[in-house]
Amino acid sequence: MNKFLLKKVHIKLTLLFFSITVVILIVMSISYLYISEVNLYNNEFLSFKNSISTFKTNLEQQTVITHDWLISTEYNNGFSIELRDNGEEFLYNNRILDPEKKDIFEAARNAAKTQNTYDNNPNQIEYSFQYSGQTYYAGYGTIKKGNAVLEYWAVVSILRLHKQILYQRFLFFGIIAVASFAIFLFTYYFTKRLLDPIKESQVTQNQFIASSSHELRTPLAVILSCANASKHANVEEKDNFLTTIASEAIRMSRLVNDMLLLAKTDNHTLHIETTHCEPDTLLLNCYESFELLAKERHVKLTIQLPDETVKPCKMDQERITQILTILVQNALNYTPNDGLITLSLTNNDNFIRYSVIDNGIGIPEEHKKNIFKRFYRVNQARTDDTHFGLGLSIAYELVQAHKGNIAVKDTPGGGCTFVVELPT
Ligand code: ADP
Repeated sequence: MNKFLLKKVHIKLTLLFFSITVVILIVMSISYLYISEVNLYNNEFLSFKNSISTFKTNLEQQTVITHDWLISTEYNNGFSIELRDNGEEFLYNNRILDPEKKDIFEAARNAAKTQNTYDNNPNQIEYSFQYSGQTYYAGYGTIKKGNAVLEYWAVVSILRLHKQILYQRFLFFGIIAVASFAIFLFTYYFTKRLLDPIKESQVTQNQFIASSSHELRTPLAVILSCANASKHANVEEKDNFLTTIASEAIRMSRLVNDMLLLAKTDNHTLHIETTHCEPDTLLLNCYESFELLAKERHVKLTIQLPDETVKPCKMDQERITQILTILVQNALNYTPNDGLITLSLTNNDNFIRYSVIDNGIGIPEEHKKNIFKRFYRVNQARTDDTHFGLGLSIAYELVQAHKGNIAVKDTPGGGCTFVVELPT
């Protein structure tokens, strides 16, 4: 995946997560707003109904209905009142200062008729109606006072409630806008973090390709120049060239094999064939196979095994031998003459621990975190037949495939100790 494609995926993922989250947020907010608004309207209507019921009760109890009492009732309840006595308008009705109020009461009566709620002699009826684009609640009823039938009307505008609801909507949409912005920033950052491993693996892969091409270039160049030179060479020279070509081809094939093994671990296609095998026998075999080489290099190779027999463990015999070979080969490569290399095995109920301890040149602290990386060499200038810088990365992958651990530490007095822990 190239940089541009990764950026495109990042933007697409951000937009996808962002839109899903915002849609959920909007749906939830609108549902909440709807329920809250319905409740507000219901409560307002209920409180209006209660107020006019109270008004009706008080009206029944009044022996004399004074203007002062009506004014204070209007003031306390927030609604306007009209009264009729046997169909005759109360004088109070005409004191209404706002001329529009008369029209509002007229609209309330018309609405009652058109909504079929109009009743000549109702106990009490409440309803809502529209006047001049605004919603009002209205209620009317009749009471008997002696021979007279007293008809009362009450209307109230719910403009205040509308304004409150409008304010609530603005507040909500403001909060949604701020939350959406925060969600956008979060998803942008979150998806970036999500893609980081892909980015890193892309960088590692590019480095791997670059390093392997670089390593393959040297033997190829040698092979090509030998092939060209051999055209004009005599028999003896040709033989030499052929030997060089063969050894470079072997070097290339070793490198290609290492790279294939790493590619397999990357694709999780490396086959680990676990069988019950004896960890001490594996170490002993490894010791024996390097004994002669160590002697030739004037390095003392020793082995320490537990006193009691180690019970067989389930592991891939060939791969474990490969890990031990890499570690012992490195120890031999980086331990000078008269050095000492010790192979040791310890165990407990949960794991076995192989240690390859040398008193060689050691690994400086700053390099320790990198030595398991591919093509990493402490001394980058050192390239010969065997030093591609892939050995430890292969050992690392093989140990991982066994769900184990590999680590390096300093050997007391100099050199380094590689420790491989494998679950039993
Ligand atoms: P190489 O093929 O170069 O040995 P490795 O991956 O096996 O590659 O090792 C990586 C680097 O770690 C080596 O180049 C070397 O610098 C360092 N190293 C590994 N083992 C030892 C050791 N026993 N002593 C000192 N340095 C070591």
